[in-house]
Amino acid sequence: MPTEPTTRRRVAFIFPIYNEEGNIELLQRTVDEVTAPLAGKYDFSFIYVDDGSKDGSLAALTGLSARDGRITVIELSRNFGHQMAVTAGLDLVDADAAIIMDSDLQDPPRVALELIEKWEEGFDVVYAQRRSRQDSPFKRLTASAFYWFLGKMAAVDIPKNTGDFRLVDRKVVDELRKYRERDRFLRGLVSYIGFKQTAVLFDRDKRHTGATGYPLTKMMRFAADGIVGFSTTPLRMITRMGYLFSLLSFLGVLYVIGVKLFEPETAVPGWAFITIAMFFLGGVQIIMLGVLGSYIGRTYSQVQNRPLYSVASVRTGANEAAEDSRSTVR
Ligand code: UDP
Ligand code: MG
Repeated sequence: MPTEPTTRRRVAFIFPIYNEEGNIELLQRTVDEVTAPLAGKYDFSFIYVDDGSKDGSLAALTGLSARDGRITVIELSRNFGHQMAVTAGLDLVDADAAIIMDSDLQDPPRVALELIEKWEEGFDVVYAQRRSRQDSPFKRLTASAFYWFLGKMAAVDIPKNTGDFRLVDRKVVDELRKYRERDRFLRGLVSYIGFKQTAVLFDRDKRHTGATGYPLTKMMRFAADGIVGFSTTPLRMITRMGYLFSLLSFLGVLYVIGVKLFEPETAVPGWAFITIAMFFLGGVQIIMLGVLGSYIGRTYSQVQNRPLYSVASVRTGANEAAEDSRSTVR
């Protein structure tokens, strides 16, 4: 039986869905149109992850998959949140590259083509970076404050103005699957994993219909996952504060001794002792919190149980074809 040439690479789209009934049809139609010219070159497939939608999303998805064999629908048992929905898609996907995209058409499907182009140039992660966005001034302000803060704190460089809209090569997907921490900040993990990464600039559109699934509370929790998941700086700050307070206390103690020696008549009996004890204990307590903090920080990163490293390739002297980028040494 004649088979397709084996060079056809498989590209899968992953769409997290939470109450997107008004967007699903249009989304699928648009990605279909956009990818149609490349259909001879790639095998496209589409994974929709229904994250416990309360509207007709699931029915719409089931309808879609009944018509099109390239569509897979994963139904989560309840709402687990965007990051978990994408994770479920990544765990299930079987393709040479996965494109993660929002389902409200804020991430324009045509940009996916540019992601694929860069992937063909040899990049393993191609993230779509917003040149502009149509969100409310509030969202823009909080987002830019968040990225500024994250840049200051995080141990890895997490690119600014990027969401989860990106293409990841299969080997990055394989690595991501090893990261099982519960409080997930996928874009941080992707940066953390490394490999060859690049950006494609795009203008982010408005949500097509429906309401955001990221109200302020969820957004703040997500921001905390980003900062706390990639940095123990807040804990280390306690120690610095402890030193600062101890220094101030030391000055305070000198002052109290000075008053006691040179102007004893202004001091209330017992004042010197109480004040010195207060300064001293305050400083010591904060330093001790810092010590606890540094152990908690280490315990935390151990508990996250991340793989220690990812191997991009292993080459042995004589073996020219040894660029097996998927080998992993545990
Ligand atoms: N989403 C999800 N689960 C949630 C919230 C959102 O799967 O609990 C999906 C949603 O359907 C969309 C993407 O995540 O495809 C981004 O969400 P949204 O557009 O609501 O966020 P915003 O763009 O407002 O930040
Ligand atoms: Mg959106």
